Amino acid sequence: MSLSRFAISFVFVAAALAGCAKPPVERAVLTQTTTTEAPVVTGAILKASAPISQQPIPERIFSTGHLGGRTLAVGSSSDIALRQGEVILTFDDGPRPGKTSQILASLDHFGVKATFLMLGSAAEANPKLAQLVANKGHTVGSHTFGHVDLTTLSRQEAVDEIAKGERAVALALAGSGQTLSPFFRFPYLAQNGFLRTNLMQGSVVVLDVDVDSKDYYKETADVVLQRTLSRLDARGSGIVLFHDIHQRTVDLLPRFLSELEQRGYTVVRLVPKDNGVFGRDVITADVPSQNGTL
Ligand SMILES: [Zn+2]
Repeated sequence: MSLSRFAISFVFVAAALAGCAKPPVERAVLTQTTTTEAPVVTGAILKASAPISQQPIPERIFSTGHLGGRTLAVGSSSDIALRQGEVILTFDDGPRPGKTSQILASLDHFGVKATFLMLGSAAEANPKLAQLVANKGHTVGSHTFGHVDLTTLSRQEAVDEIAKGERAVALALAGSGQTLSPFFRFPYLAQNGFLRTNLMQGSVVVLDVDVDSKDYYKETADVVLQRTLSRLDARGSGIVLFHDIHQRTVDLLPRFLSELEQRGYTVVRLVPKDNGVFGRDVITADVPSQNGTL
């Protein structure tokens, strides 16, 4: 590491240590480096006109980087066997401009990977954002095209709606080097035996939910946070459902991940064991516009 890189890194660390009002836990590094006289470091990041401890910094939440857990290769629902303390993070209904990218930033900060069950309509409208999710190393599955309660449709209509969603998400990812994974979640968790069997026979993995955050309720981020944590603690592990379309979810996610870390959980990354027909990049003349907004 060059001297300048070191200096910049040091400024970040020193500033974060000095200014974080509520570090989630006492860490050994705090006792080693926190002093009443923070050294003034000149550089491009912060002006040295005031002691670092008096300079405004964004609120930070520490991560030790210990939250990232196993990668689980999944070919069917039965492969999703979690151990005590393991969590799978899922985000439905996106991608959503202004929200999804903030969710990605929080996941990046804690070094964890999630699974995004995208709506075909949302991916079609925001292809670059869909690609960003995939390029960040997250797993992208589908969630129908228009968020329809499939149990209200005829069998053929329901199958068509699922396929339309899969195709739209696959098309949104086309050209990015990433592909749709064969994970699917039923809108409203509304399903029936026919559809579930039909999907399984098509090598689709239906993702169930163990802990529903209910982040779509008009409640504060803190209420959603506490409920989700208590339900997870009661189970000890599980697949957690969030939605990357709500501001309260954006707001609570850093604290949720920090709590997971403190409580000793790890976040399991889901990847397809065999992408099958989903593993081929979509080659088509009607690749979506690359001008979509994030
Ligand atoms: Zn949904």
